[in-house]
Amino acid sequence: MPIVVSSGSGRPIDCSRARVGAPRPEASTTRSAAIVSLAPFLKDRITELDDWSKIKLLTVQINRLKKWCRDGLLCIGDSAHAMSPAGGVGINLALQDAVATANLLAAKLRNGPVSVADLEQIQKRREWPTRLIQAMQSFIHRHVVTGRESKAGDSLPIVVRLLRWFPALRSLPARFIGLGPRPEHIQSPLNSEGQR
Ligand SMILES: Cc1cc2nc3c(=O)[nH]c(=O)nc-3n(C[C@H](O)[C@H](O)[C@H](O)COP(=O)(O)OP(=O)(O)OC[C@H]3O[C@@H](n4cnc5c(N)ncnc54)[C@H](O)[C@@H]3O)c2cc1C
Repeated sequence: MPIVVSSGSGRPIDCSRARVGAPRPEASTTRSAAIVSLAPFLKDRITELDDWSKIKLLTVQINRLKKWCRDGLLCIGDSAHAMSPAGGVGINLALQDAVATANLLAAKLRNGPVSVADLEQIQKRREWPTRLIQAMQSFIHRHVVTGRESKAGDSLPIVVRLLRWFPALRSLPARFIGLGPRPEHIQSPLNSEGQR
């Protein structure tokens, strides 16, 4: 996940390419005072921020690799599909990728290297649940998180209003988020053999 800092104009700068000179002490004091005026709770630890390289804006992204593998390399979890915090599902999805990977590859790996075709099975199995969950995250960002006023109940998206009107429906998103659209269970033969 890339880490960026703001240039001040709102345009992000990729930290890996930015060249930052040694900070001037007076600039550092002014910066610290400005930060404390905005966030007084940082007063007793602001001295830790003595270099611009320690000031970062984490850019949250939702995206996916087109191909999750190549010869000798498999990406799962966020390395294959970066998740946002929306819904708190990214860790669940990453773990499910890992379980699916173990189920599909553990026995084969015992006998030697696996082929690219074997690695592609992981993407085949896990890509559509990922797409669904990412679509849900994008929906949350577009319709719930960004720029909504919470004054009136009718400003809520129709899906959320349905959940308010029909409480019985609330188990559906809970299930979708908690178990995922394609739950994974450990089936690797290595597991039943006592994890040798
Ligand atoms: C701000 C924010 C809040 C979030 N909140 C939630 C939440 O509340 N609940 C939730 O489920 N999901 C949340 N997510 C999503 C979640 O963090 C990710 O989906 C999840 O962590 C992905 O797990 P992962 O193991 O694939 O990757 P990561 O958790 O990113 O783990 C990758 C690990 O590899 C290490 N690493 C990287 N490069 C190297 C290297 N070259 N050598 C050795 N180690 C390396 C990293 O240090 C890191 O520890 C949030 C995401 C963001 C951005």
